[in-house]
Amino acid sequence: IAQLKEKSQQLSTITQMAAGVAHEIKNPLTAIKGFLQIGAANPDLRDNYYEIILDEVNRIESIVQDFMMLSKPKSSIQLEDIDIEDVVSYVLRLLDPEATSKNINLSFTCNIVENTFQSEPKRLKQILLNIISNAIDATDKGGNVEVSAYTRGDNLILSIIDDGHGLSDQDLAKLGEPFFTTKEKGTGLGVMVTKKMVNDLNGMIAYKSELHQGTSVTVSLPYDL
Ligand code: ADP
Ligand code: MG
Repeated sequence: IAQLKEKSQQLSTITQMAAGVAHEIKNPLTAIKGFLQIGAANPDLRDNYYEIILDEVNRIESIVQDFMMLSKPKSSIQLEDIDIEDVVSYVLRLLDPEATSKNINLSFTCNIVENTFQSEPKRLKQILLNIISNAIDATDKGGNVEVSAYTRGDNLILSIIDDGHGLSDQDLAKLGEPFFTTKEKGTGLGVMVTKKMVNDLNGMIAYKSELHQGTSVTVSLPYDL
């Protein structure tokens, strides 16, 4: 009976997810269709809708990409020797325009015993990108996002601390639930995908947050996988 219960729970999670994905993709599709119809009837108006259509297509693309990540089995991991400082710096460069436009002080300190690390660059970059972009989103103009990497025992610790708007205990409990978002243009998939990828790398992730004070995310990855 316990097994059956688990099976039916799994099924209902899958059903809910499928309904959620369908819904999340249907919204931008409906918008795209509407703007294309207006454009077809009024060629002079087409230029006005180009950007919105592109925005909505990008949204669908990012939802699909997140879901493809979720369905990737742990066994698909391809470990490489990576340079942690390089990987973090790469991600920070990607996010620099976003941080600069909000005048956010995005800093990085690296204090690790061993700079080379066995990991998968693709997943590691995605993890950092998701966490740091959420930190930037949560931070007001002129705020701070501090990224640090250090060694603690047999683990590499990646810490991302922001002094942004933080989360209530209620919202903190919802982190990682599919489609939980407080953003107008959010997908609510980033944290869920991040948790899955950290798990793929045999790591752990912890969120601490204080409403109106900020959030601290700690990712711990074993040096020996
Ligand atoms: P999205 O970024 O599309 O909203 P995520 O899964 O990445 O989806 O994040 C879900 C929600 O978690 C966000 O909408 C936000 O409310 C909350 N969140 C995540 N990281 C932070 C953070 N550093 N500070 C405050 N809220 C956060
Ligand atoms: Mg996000």
